[in-house]
Amino acid sequence: MSDLITKSAADLAGAISTGNVSAVEVAQAHLDRISAVDDRVHAFLHVDAEGALAAAKAVDAKRAAGETLGPLAGVPLGLKDVMCMQGIPTTCGSKMLEGWRPPYDATVTKRLKDAGVVILGKTNMDEFAMGSSTEHSAYGPTRNPWDLERIPGGSGGGSSACLAAYEAPLAIGTDTGGSIRQPAAVTGTVGVKPTYGAVSRYGLIALASSLDQAGPCARTVLDTALLHSVIAGHDPHDSTSLTDAVPNVVAAAGTRDLSGMRIGVVKELGGEGYQAGVRQRFDEAVTVLTQLGAEIVEVSCPHFDYALAAYYLILPSECSSNLAKFDGMRYGLRAGDDGESSVEQVMARTRAAGFGEEVTRRIILGTYALSAGYYDAFYGSAQKIRTLIQRDFNDAFAKVDVLVSPTAPTTAFKLGEKLDDPLAMYLNDIATIPANLAGTPGMSLPIGLAPEDNLPVGMQIMAPARADERLYAVGGALEAALLAQWGAPLLSQAVSL
Ligand code: GLN
Repeated sequence: MSDLITKSAADLAGAISTGNVSAVEVAQAHLDRISAVDDRVHAFLHVDAEGALAAAKAVDAKRAAGETLGPLAGVPLGLKDVMCMQGIPTTCGSKMLEGWRPPYDATVTKRLKDAGVVILGKTNMDEFAMGSSTEHSAYGPTRNPWDLERIPGGSGGGSSACLAAYEAPLAIGTDTGGSIRQPAAVTGTVGVKPTYGAVSRYGLIALASSLDQAGPCARTVLDTALLHSVIAGHDPHDSTSLTDAVPNVVAAAGTRDLSGMRIGVVKELGGEGYQAGVRQRFDEAVTVLTQLGAEIVEVSCPHFDYALAAYYLILPSECSSNLAKFDGMRYGLRAGDDGESSVEQVMARTRAAGFGEEVTRRIILGTYALSAGYYDAFYGSAQKIRTLIQRDFNDAFAKVDVLVSPTAPTTAFKLGEKLDDPLAMYLNDIATIPANLAGTPGMSLPIGLAPEDNLPVGMQIMAPARADERLYAVGGALEAALLAQWGAPLLSQAVSL
C-alpha cells in the first residue's frame, strides 16, 4: 500500500506543487488502490483511469512550465454519480440512465477540472439519491470500509466509502436530506452541506430542487474547506445560486480556540431513539467544546419533531415532478417499444423497467400529495411546517452561534437490516433533515467510536444560512483537540481492508 493514499489532500497538493511527487504518481497510487479494494467496497460505478492520468499529466506539465498551481491541483477525487461529467457515464445509480453520457459538465465538475483536481471516476449512490444506505443503487450496494457487512450511509455511500477506503482523499456529495452528512458520520469521515445556493446545482441531476445542495467530502476539516472553496461561488446557470462572496472557510478551519463562541445543543435531537454509544460520544465531544472555550446552551427547536414528516411530503412531491422527464423519449432507457404501442404505453413500460422500488414509492407518494383535493392537506401543510422549522432556527441562532447534535441516531447498520422497512430507513435522517428544510449549512465530523460496536460516530454542526465558516471554525477546533486526544486519526483504526 503506497504512503500516498493515506495523505490528506492538503499534503498531497503541497507535495505536488513543490515537485516532491508528481500528480501522475499520486493518481496512479489511487487507481492501484481502487484496483486492489474496490471489488469489495464497490465505491465506484465507473473509473476513468485514462481521464484521470491525462488530467494529472496536465498538472505536472503546468508545474514544469513554471505556472502556479491551485490549492488542490493534482489531488484525486471521487465524483458522485448524480453530477454530470461530459462524455463519462452518469447513471444516478439507476437503470434508467444506464449508458447515458452527458454532453456537458456540471458547474461543479467544470470548477474541479479548472482547478486541476483529478477526477478518478463516478461514485455509487442510492438511485436518484433516495436512501440512506446505497442499497437502493441499481448496481448493487457499496460496503462500509469499517465492516464490509455494514452500510456506508446514503445516498452518497460511494463518496464516503472511497474516502474511508483510501481510494480518494476527496469526494463530492449531494445532500437533500442528509446524504453528505449521514454517510460521513457512519464512515468516520467529514462531510459538509453548504448553505442552499452556495454551490451551483447546474448539471446536478435534481432530486428535490428546493432541498438539493452539493458539497465537499474528505477525511479532514481542512480538506473539506479547500474543496468547498473550489466548488462554491455564484453561477449564472443556476437561478438559486447565491451572489455572495465565498466565505473564507479555509482560514476558519485553522481555528483552535472557541472562546466567545456560543454553542446550542438541540434538545429535540439526541434523546430517545439514539444509540447509547452515540449519545455518550456526543456528550464527551460537547465537553471538549467547553474545554476549547465555548459556552454550551441547551436550545429547543420544537418543530424539528415534524421535520421528517414534512420532508417526506415535500421531497416526494418535488421528485415526482423532477423525475417525470425520465420517460424513455429523452434520456437513457427505452423499454417495450415494439413499433406498435402508443407513446403512453412505451413511457409506462420504460418507467416500470427503469425505476427501482424506492423511487417508484416516492413518485407515487408525491403524485398523490400533489393531486387536486389533497394538495393543501399534504403539500401545503408540509410547507407550513417548513416555515415553522425555519423560525425555530432563527430563534435558536438569536441565542447561539452554532447548533450541535449527533449526525445520525445510530452507527452503521447491517446491509439488509432496514431494506424492507422504509420508515426505519427514513429515520436515519431525523437529525439532518431540518437543515435542508431551512436551507442552512451543516457539517458532520467524526468524534470517536461507539463503545458497543467500535463503529464511528459523527457530530453535526449547524450554522445560520451564509455563515458556513462557523462550521469550519468549530469543526477545525474540535478535530484538532480530538486528534491530540487520540494520537492518530480515527480512520487508522479501520482495519477491514
Ligand atoms: N436519505 C434521505 C432520503 O432518502 C436523504 C437523501 C439525500 O440527501 N439525497 O431522502
